[in-house]
Amino acid sequence: MKQRILRGIPAAPGISIGKAFLFDTKEMSQVVKRPILEEDIPSEVRRFKEALNKTRHELTKIKDKISREIGAEHGEIFSAHLLVLEDSMFIDEVITKVKKERLVVEYVFQDVLKKYVKAFSKIDDEYLRERISDINDVGRRIIKNLLGARQPSLGELKEQVVVIAYDLSPSHTASMHKRSVIAFATDIGGRTSHTAIMAKSLEIPAVVGLEEATLFIKNGEPVIVDGNKGIVIIYPTQETIKSYELQKKGFEEYERSLLGFRDLPSQTLDGHKVRIMANIELPEEIPSIIYHGAQGIGLYRTEYFYMNRTDLPKEDEQYEAYKVVAQKIAPLSVTIRTMDLGGDKFLSHLEVPHEMNPFLGWRAIRFCLARPDIFKVQLRAILRASVHGKLKMMYPMISGLEELKQANVILNEAKEELRKKGIPFDENIEVGAMIEIPSAAMTSDLLTKEADFFSIGTNDLIQYSIAVDRVNEKIAYLYEPTHPGVLRLIKSVIENGHKAGVWVGLCGEMAGEPELALILLGFGLDEFSMSSVTIPEVKRIIRATTLQQAKEIAEKALTLSTGKEIEEFARTKLKEILSNASDPKT
Ligand code: PEP
Ligand code: MG
Repeated sequence: MKQRILRGIPAAPGISIGKAFLFDTKEMSQVVKRPILEEDIPSEVRRFKEALNKTRHELTKIKDKISREIGAEHGEIFSAHLLVLEDSMFIDEVITKVKKERLVVEYVFQDVLKKYVKAFSKIDDEYLRERISDINDVGRRIIKNLLGARQPSLGELKEQVVVIAYDLSPSHTASMHKRSVIAFATDIGGRTSHTAIMAKSLEIPAVVGLEEATLFIKNGEPVIVDGNKGIVIIYPTQETIKSYELQKKGFEEYERSLLGFRDLPSQTLDGHKVRIMANIELPEEIPSIIYHGAQGIGLYRTEYFYMNRTDLPKEDEQYEAYKVVAQKIAPLSVTIRTMDLGGDKFLSHLEVPHEMNPFLGWRAIRFCLARPDIFKVQLRAILRASVHGKLKMMYPMISGLEELKQANVILNEAKEELRKKGIPFDENIEVGAMIEIPSAAMTSDLLTKEADFFSIGTNDLIQYSIAVDRVNEKIAYLYEPTHPGVLRLIKSVIENGHKAGVWVGLCGEMAGEPELALILLGFGLDEFSMSSVTIPEVKRIIRATTLQQAKEIAEKALTLSTGKEIEEFARTKLKEILSNASDPKT
């Protein structure tokens, strides 16, 4: 086979060389229009016939059961369903279209089904029109059977593989074990999707937004995933493998050399101190963040607690988990973010309706304010854990003062309930607001009345201010942290916070991007919180400059007109500064 290179978006750094494992997530999602190769046509047709057989078998079983238990005349309803399965014209049309259009069979099937339903709905005969629901029912069953073959969960894999998928949800990624999943690559997704963030946290090299990886890569094929450049190579030549083995070694050595900064203070050459913290999704990440030299946890994304399970976590269970995190990181601090469900993080058991625009929808603090019963359970657990270490908390997706006030009212109720029961908590716990919606950034002067600190969530702030979906690979080129609009917002939040004596952190992926560290430092950011792998490098940069130099760079950046210009300028300045810096090992 010939070597083939696919280009996507770098999601998590590192290089892995291994065997592909095609993980099909289609059973979780809707039918997707996906092309197939000519050689895949027979297997698509076979899949269709198997799904028809399975559906026939299911319907016959139901018919027999109903006939036995309720009566033959009721069972007959399913004869009409079974007849749909025998309609050779319908079946042949699907097969012919799969061959002709070279698309996955479930998509073609759904298309043909829609055509039949439309035709039936126009017939002037009530009996026939009523058959539409039979056709739809059978159609749903067939699609379910086409999509539904269950696969092993990603946590159950026995051998080391490179996972290739159309898409992976953050909860799929959370269930990966670093030992068995050595890298992954997906057709869709963006750099700051939670799937990408989770990959970084688990230190699994990943590339997303490849568009056609699942089309070209087959199970068991040799692949290289280059998470630094966003490249996947199928059937690499011996030469490519050798070159990548060297690159991998070089990258790992570079990472190790940066660890020389791990235990050094994060301060500029003229003594200005900032905090370099880590973001975590799971408590299991704590050893890794300590290893990378985090000075605490600036963002603990608690929503993962609610995922990959069928019930809501109880107060005691949450309390125990937060307590362990607080104790393990003490005397350093941890900022617990209240649950941020929605967007690309769903919970099947919460019955949140499917929305047209989930990132703009009923999510995060909006959901919590509507369901204070669920919210308060978490608040009490956080408060109770606050006596076991240095704990802070913050709310996600605050859009304005009203919401922040409402959240604080519920928090005060939770505090009062604990006081009444004589349960101790830290009465001085710091409570912050995430600034990730443009309206919150623009009213941050007002928000200082109700917040002890701000944490700028640039992953969302960028998506909302540029109107660019953070998980959509097609518009990833627009997703620019250096967009002058984004930088102006960040600067104003920091200034507004400081005017009112409120410290300001930043916990989006931007905090860990080396090129941007100087600008953020120059704006006066107090705390950088990031995926732990990027901590040593950012610390190195902070230690290589003076605050004055950083301020000048930030000021100059703001005079430039486009994201590209600013990025280029920041990169050049970074090179200049690092070329004068001392060696990590000295
Ligand atoms: C952010 O939006 O920048 C953020 C840190 O929150 P999340 O990535 O979980 O949305
Ligand atoms: Mg966010």
